[in-house]
Amino acid sequence: MEKWLLFAKEHWGIDLSAAQQAMFAVYESELMLWNEKMNLTAVRDTEGIRIKHFLDSLTCAQVLGDMNGRALIDIGTGAGFPGIPLKILFPEMRLVLVDSVGKKVDFCRHMLEKLCLQDSLALQARAEDLGLAEAHRERYDAAVARAVAGLPVLCEYLLPLVRPGGCILAQKGESAPDEAAQAEKAIRILGGGPAALTPVDLPGLEDRRYLIRIPKDRPTPPGFPRRTGVPSRMPIL
Ligand code: SAM
Repeated sequence: MEKWLLFAKEHWGIDLSAAQQAMFAVYESELMLWNEKMNLTAVRDTEGIRIKHFLDSLTCAQVLGDMNGRALIDIGTGAGFPGIPLKILFPEMRLVLVDSVGKKVDFCRHMLEKLCLQDSLALQARAEDLGLAEAHRERYDAAVARAVAGLPVLCEYLLPLVRPGGCILAQKGESAPDEAAQAEKAIRILGGGPAALTPVDLPGLEDRRYLIRIPKDRPTPPGFPRRTGVPSRMPIL
């Protein structure tokens, strides 16, 4: 068994089937192939893809629990992280991948098709627009994002998309505790509850990483998210 798969099994009890392992192998080779043609991700080596993309995405399962039968939206997914690894792990999960950049969405669509992932789609859209659209507002059990924006901005992207009783999950680095403190007002205004931080370790990486989980306690009030571009220009602080 490859080292990264062994790590997931020994540390997190994630025991991927042969079919799931084969899907990750296809994802890896397609990512490398497409990266030669376009700048999809800065991580280009096999080891980096396995640890910084695949394992790092799978850490979300520690906090989300079993997502089979539930709906997840991944905002600013880029080349599909963390959404596609989570869909491989939870085949019965409904998945919506979102990015504002067309070529990234093209790659995500290609991967969903190539891996025959059912109940999943990739949308070229802005989080702010989806948060106001009836088909997406408060329709998801969980919303996730990695490396998209500071937490106050991210709360305005993610919280409107989740139903009360669901949660949002932000993958963050060492700044997580500061960002969580900075986001308190945004969380309160947008219908969230207290943030919980879970530290995560990845093999061979020194920097401290965190998962920030914020429960959605109440409906998001009308008027949020604000117009496209406003959350990032004028975060709720
Ligand atoms: N989540 C991926 C990962 O960790 O590998 C990609 C991270 S990349 C640094 C950030 C992505 O978020 C970009 O692809 C960008 O287009 C997208 N993005 C930023 N703001 C967005 C918004 N408001 N709505 C949708 N996508 C957004």
